[in-house]
Amino acid sequence: MDILPTRLEQFPSATLDSETPLEKPQVSIVVPIYNEVESLPKLIDAIQTSLQTTDVTYELICVDDGSRDGSTELLKELAANNPILKAVILRRNYGQTAAMSAGFNNSRGEVIVTLDGDLQNDPADIPILLDKLAEGYDVVSGWRKNRQDAALTRLLPSKIANGLIGRMTDVKLHDYGCSLKAYRAEVAADLKLYGELHRFLPALAAIEGARITEIPVRHHARQFGHSKYGLDRTFRVVMDLLTISFIKKFLTRPMHVFGLLGLFSLLIGVLSGVYLTFLKYGLGQSIGDRPLLILAVLLTLTGVQLFSFGLLAEVLMRTYHESQNRPIYRVREVVSGHNSKSQHLA
Ligand code: UDP
Ligand code: MG
Repeated sequence: MDILPTRLEQFPSATLDSETPLEKPQVSIVVPIYNEVESLPKLIDAIQTSLQTTDVTYELICVDDGSRDGSTELLKELAANNPILKAVILRRNYGQTAAMSAGFNNSRGEVIVTLDGDLQNDPADIPILLDKLAEGYDVVSGWRKNRQDAALTRLLPSKIANGLIGRMTDVKLHDYGCSLKAYRAEVAADLKLYGELHRFLPALAAIEGARITEIPVRHHARQFGHSKYGLDRTFRVVMDLLTISFIKKFLTRPMHVFGLLGLFSLLIGVLSGVYLTFLKYGLGQSIGDRPLLILAVLLTLTGVQLFSFGLLAEVLMRTYHESQNRPIYRVREVVSGHNSKSQHLA
């Protein structure tokens, strides 16, 4: 695969120390882990076996998202004895999006590959994604053509969500929710994540001008443990979706939308008022019982209010963007190689 531009400068030197291998890997594999203790050994094995078939250098970053089933301890032990593996231990359960974001921020590769920790995604597909990315894309998204999940509670809501996302954003994918994806690191680094936004990564990246494609990948039923999600996630996804389209359409320049509506309403209101004034004082007619009078007053008031609303929204938009620097997770510890250290992100 081609070698992508370096982004070493994006990482504070605190994340690199004497015991971290200094050569930057080409690929960082990021896996969020929340109570996946039975899958872990098999997962790490499968990822290493798959990457050994390629000629890329890589690191594996498992982010422990506040597990309580022993995943944390196992991960730390495995990472201490495996130079490829880095365990990023979060202070508590922050959710899959935050865990992925922690993985992105701790990765050093020029390419980032994400997948689930429960072996539902097949690590054997990683080389296929990397090849596709090397064709000149910024994001390659997996498409679970034969998805092995419950039909009514998972497949149906997913189908609806995929349709909606496709309609509301400019990126047409069959399967936005597939965790198995490959990104050029600079694309992932630009994205501010929160809520359930990881599934909108392709759409968010597209807004930033990324080239995106989708390829079919394998999907397996969960072997161990159980899914961390129920129907409530569908609701949260829909809410995120509304936020995204709102951000895209209105939040970038709310004044353009509300201000224009306000000005239009104000203009008609004022014109009606001028006309009524002319009728009363120019022609000496009574205007008290004309419906137009009410309309003129209403439109003028609405116009002023919409305009102020646009101004307020513009201020809110600035606050929103500035507040995005707040971290969405806290790291307790990073374990890699024979080195363990605590790292606290401000
Ligand atoms: N996950 C996480 N934090 C959470 C929930 C899930 O890191 O709060 C991880 C989980 O361990 C798995 C991935 O996110 O690696 C996807 O979760 P899951 O398999 O439960 O989702 P599903 O496949 O059912 O959509
Ligand atoms: Mg799963």
